[in-house]
Amino acid sequence: MHEINETHDVNLRSWIESANAPDTDFPIQNLPFCHFGYETDQEGAAWSAVWSFGVAIGDEILNLVGCSKDGLFDEFEGSLDDVTKLPENLVYFQSETADTLLRFRRKLSELLREEASQELQQKVSRHLHPITNCTFDLPFEIGNYTDFYCSIFHATNVGAMFRPDNPLLPNYKYIPIGYHGRASSIVVSGTEIKRPKGQNRTDQDASPVYIPCKNLDYEMEVGFFVGKSNELGETIPIENAEEHIFGLCLVNDWSARDIQAWEYQPLGPFLAKSFATTVSPFVVTMEALAPFRVPAFERDADDPQPLDYLNGEQNKTHGGFDIKLEVYIQTPKMREENIAPHLLSRSNMKDLYWTIGQMLTHHASNGCNLQTGDLMATGTVSGKGKDERGCLLELTWRGKEPIQLPNGEERRFLEDGDEIIMKGFCEREGFRRIGFGECRGRILPAD
Ligand code: CA
Repeated sequence: MHEINETHDVNLRSWIESANAPDTDFPIQNLPFCHFGYETDQEGAAWSAVWSFGVAIGDEILNLVGCSKDGLFDEFEGSLDDVTKLPENLVYFQSETADTLLRFRRKLSELLREEASQELQQKVSRHLHPITNCTFDLPFEIGNYTDFYCSIFHATNVGAMFRPDNPLLPNYKYIPIGYHGRASSIVVSGTEIKRPKGQNRTDQDASPVYIPCKNLDYEMEVGFFVGKSNELGETIPIENAEEHIFGLCLVNDWSARDIQAWEYQPLGPFLAKSFATTVSPFVVTMEALAPFRVPAFERDADDPQPLDYLNGEQNKTHGGFDIKLEVYIQTPKMREENIAPHLLSRSNMKDLYWTIGQMLTHHASNGCNLQTGDLMATGTVSGKGKDERGCLLELTWRGKEPIQLPNGEERRFLEDGDEIIMKGFCEREGFRRIGFGECRGRILPAD
């Protein structure tokens, strides 16, 4: 269980002024990790990035490798000097003893808080880079990617479109449903997404044709990274599940609905999903999220209870997360007319039927070895309400009810040039708001 401690204190302020702005995603109470590139100051040299690992604080990124070389983390065993190994080093903190990662969080908090000595502030400030001068890459090398389907509202809505009389399949309340996704096509926020081509058989009377996707969609999801791995053949008890989770990010599971409808039976999603998945660059740690934990989803009285291996006391009382999620769209015409991105939906991670602990335990329940850097995603996070639907398939009910945009445009699915912007943040009375940054992607035309 992750504790609430002095690093979450609402009154904590940083000597980096931008971290004290009430609407910043990255106050000193957050401290999410990222893999970033910053400009070298070689005069006359073409722009080239030096890559490092960092922590976001206000409008700045703190270079952890630089800090380490400067001796600021000397009390920690293991070296942070090797850029390529930093995530592994951080995970080493996670696996060494339960509180090493927590000690590292405390250390970062001490370095950045207002009370830090002038000398310390000067030393640390040498390793700060304005976010606007930085470029970002995936926070971990992702070996494997698994996508779940954990919103009962999403599953019921989608099921209802295809099987109105029997929307939810009988396994749903027993198994956190998932499929193995593609890791190589996961890209970081800001990467442009080329419209995929594929087999389309929307004309049921004709043979399928190979054409650019017509029903391109996004899915608003939350991702989590595996920190500590498990050996092949070992399972992970639900009580220990969260020890294996490093932190959370935002995920856009781009989906080609027309390709999906034709290819998905009997083995599930394939090329409709594997052309691209976008993740936000910042990993918000389990430690940072401690104040925003909530009970697992309350099941209906006549729903089955989870099987024993998925049922833990702590999971029940604290397994959920209160994370607000928002999706915005901006079309090329809106950009031309200077119209701000339009809010499509608001949902919340606390409405998921299964917790991330249950997803992870279930994933390893057959002895599958999960590895450091593996990414798992929750599936589309939809709520009960119409404006809480986390993808266009649901929002437009398969294109039947187009969305009206503020400039008179309509959307059933995404068109070339459209940009999707996802945001996530946590708010709770008595605590600082913390955010996930953005997960964005713009659609390029097919070849
Ligand atoms: Ca998905």
